[in-house]
Amino acid sequence: MIHSVTTLSRFFALLGSLAVCGVCAAADVAYFADNGYGNPISSLQHPVGEHYQGVTYVAYQGPHEDPYIAAYVHATAQWIGPVQAGVSAMGKSPDQIDPGELDNHGKPALVVDRQGYIHLVFGSHGGDPKYGRNPLGEFFMGTKGKMTHVVSVKPGDISAWRVVDNIPVHGTYNQWVKVPNGDLYLFYRHGGHRSDWVYQKSVDDGRTFAAPVSVLKHKVSAASPTVNDSWYAWFDNGRGDTITASYIYHPCANPKHNAHRQNTYYMQLDTQSGQWSNVQGARLALPVTKESADKLTLIEDTGTVRTTHGTAHVDAAGRPHLVFPAGKDVRYYRWDGKAWQKPVAVGAAGERMHDGDFFVDSPTSVRMLLAQTTEAGHEIAWWNTTDGGLTWLKGAVFMASKERSFNLSAMIRNAHPDAVMLLASRSPAEPHLYRQMHLVGAHGALVRPAAEASHLGDRLEHIKSLPPPNKDKAEAKRKKKLGLGDDDL
Ligand code: ZN
Repeated sequence: MIHSVTTLSRFFALLGSLAVCGVCAAADVAYFADNGYGNPISSLQHPVGEHYQGVTYVAYQGPHEDPYIAAYVHATAQWIGPVQAGVSAMGKSPDQIDPGELDNHGKPALVVDRQGYIHLVFGSHGGDPKYGRNPLGEFFMGTKGKMTHVVSVKPGDISAWRVVDNIPVHGTYNQWVKVPNGDLYLFYRHGGHRSDWVYQKSVDDGRTFAAPVSVLKHKVSAASPTVNDSWYAWFDNGRGDTITASYIYHPCANPKHNAHRQNTYYMQLDTQSGQWSNVQGARLALPVTKESADKLTLIEDTGTVRTTHGTAHVDAAGRPHLVFPAGKDVRYYRWDGKAWQKPVAVGAAGERMHDGDFFVDSPTSVRMLLAQTTEAGHEIAWWNTTDGGLTWLKGAVFMASKERSFNLSAMIRNAHPDAVMLLASRSPAEPHLYRQMHLVGAHGALVRPAAEASHLGDRLEHIKSLPPPNKDKAEAKRKKKLGLGDDDL
């Protein structure tokens, strides 16, 4: 349980967050499922959930790296599921206890189409070469899996699913954007990390998709034959019919790989015209290359400071606000209509802040949910600005724990105030890779009777016979990967 608050203020913050459940049974827990697996969610594969007609649907990586989905009915405060919605081509049996044995790139992204059918895309880290050549990218650094699209058999019903074989196998970092008329855009990287970032448009609720359109170009660097231009990008709704793209650059060392990534960029798509433009409105030719990105879409040249993908949202005027993790900071950026405001580090100086996501209430008021790790433990808290991001003040603490650490999703699509974000938590003391899954909002975590939240069955028995994780092998693997995390390949 999440109970190990370490200070009085945190204790009351957590208590306050659960006070809504003052009459609940003592056996209620702050998670809805205990079968998240490995790294069950990320802000990159998104949305992880959508609020649609009074129900919040959430998806995550469960046992065997398969996609699982649960639903929360707000009117009755009842949970449904989780149920397994498909099969990942990357899972190993039995479930592993060595984190090095998991790929973790096939996490599901979820969208509800205009008829109420629920779609998930999941299951790939660039596509296994056995499925055929990749026209828009390379097989590199162990690409594998099979990008898979499943849809609920009935609208609004998570109990039964079918596979729809209508997308390429090669994608990873799958992201859905639904524009106001209901058209679906599926964005992803078309292969290993030396691959184009693309989108495919569906005007018929995911029955068919137009061919992939390359947005960001991978190629040998014009500056050096020993560098490949590579990207990490995040796509979401802008104002009206626009889609935003925020991204960073990875100068991938050739022929190997390196961990560096740098800079921050922004551009947008007008889905009415199909035209991409930069923040000033200048038209961009696709695919955007490193050269055109530097010239037309660069926000900040961060040099040796390492950036990772962030999130972006627009205000009522359509002006973008963005955050990117940069070095030890989470940096906030804002376009004021004429220029990019000087970036500001959000959070307490000297403390490690993790990626999160945010709401733009007005051009000058933004609320951000961030994870923070201190000597006292881990917590998720609001950070607020009312002066356009120049200063940030810590708000309410959502979740706090001395031993459990948290992974955050991006915001739930069309989020109900009670369910804005999905979290996964783990304790290093647990000798397995199962995680508790939390759906959090205005009243903290949405609770559930402990018996209903238990979904491991006999899995803990099954993994008992596995040998303990081999630390030497894990260390060798870590070094081979150059210390890279899940979202680094
Ligand atoms: Zn690389």
